[in-house]
Amino acid sequence: MAVDLALTEITSGVFELRLPIPFEDGLVNVFVFPDGKEADLLDCGMNADESVEMIRRGLRLLGAERLRTLMVTHIHPDHYGAAGTFAGGPGLANLYIHRLEVPLVNPRYVELEHLVDEVRRYLLVNGVPAEESDVLSNSQRALSQVVKTAEASVQLDGAETVQMGTRELRVEWTPGHSPGHICLYDITEGLLFAGDHILPELSPNIGLHPQSTPDPLHEYLEGLRRMAALQPTRVLPAHGRPFTNAPERVEVLVAHHQRRLDQILEIVGRDEKSAWQVALELWGVRENLYEKRLALQEGLAHLQALAVEGRVTKTVTPESVRWRLV
Ligand SMILES: [Zn+2]
Repeated sequence: MAVDLALTEITSGVFELRLPIPFEDGLVNVFVFPDGKEADLLDCGMNADESVEMIRRGLRLLGAERLRTLMVTHIHPDHYGAAGTFAGGPGLANLYIHRLEVPLVNPRYVELEHLVDEVRRYLLVNGVPAEESDVLSNSQRALSQVVKTAEASVQLDGAETVQMGTRELRVEWTPGHSPGHICLYDITEGLLFAGDHILPELSPNIGLHPQSTPDPLHEYLEGLRRMAALQPTRVLPAHGRPFTNAPERVEVLVAHHQRRLDQILEIVGRDEKSAWQVALELWGVRENLYEKRLALQEGLAHLQALAVEGRVTKTVTPESVRWRLV
């Protein structure tokens, strides 16, 4: 198999491996921390042959005969997909993951029926037409094919000090993109392993949905400010290249959400609306199913934040969720 090995030493004892993401253009960055004949891994890519082989080859090149710890920033397939290949079983690594991610795994990747049904009903009450609700709720099924789940060995709360390679890193719980998303912070060197929390080019999707926390946007913004306050010397993101200007990047991301909140206020100010109507006005008609669902969930996260702030009225019945200006 042709393996294009993109293994770079980021700083002493930390190697970045850039893995392909099946069905998508981008790459996901995972990090290897060698320690003699062992190594620890932060995120593991999707459970696809090429990606798994790149990790194996990276470990061999670094002289690591055994993977000790697999730390996962969150359970999205490009970060967690190969978990069951590298961790959880006899002779495999110990999986460390935030405890709020643990209950999301089985409904999302193993016993899908209940969640597919729940999402379908959720889409319907939020104004998505029946036919599209069916298609969108079923779109989750494809992802379970690139994910092999693993039992967690350690469930994190956040604020733990963990050993990765020869380093000691602090777990920073940064919910929003996913309920139990974590970053890792190397205090001595000021390195922030940011997962999807702070990306250099994209604004990570912050969505309200059956598996999210109830107010993900506020949590996300709070986490951004907390990470900026650390004033890391360097941010190592899961997508894109490392960067240095964390507080500046955080300001841009906060301003982006602020603008979005203003736009949504304007949209619901004209008329009472469903979240689907809001999303259509904001982003227009999207062809890509996955994008449609993300747009709805992102719109909902903003509407919910506005409702929590008392700027928008949210009315719910078993049939519908509607939003209007206070
Ligand atoms: Zn993600």
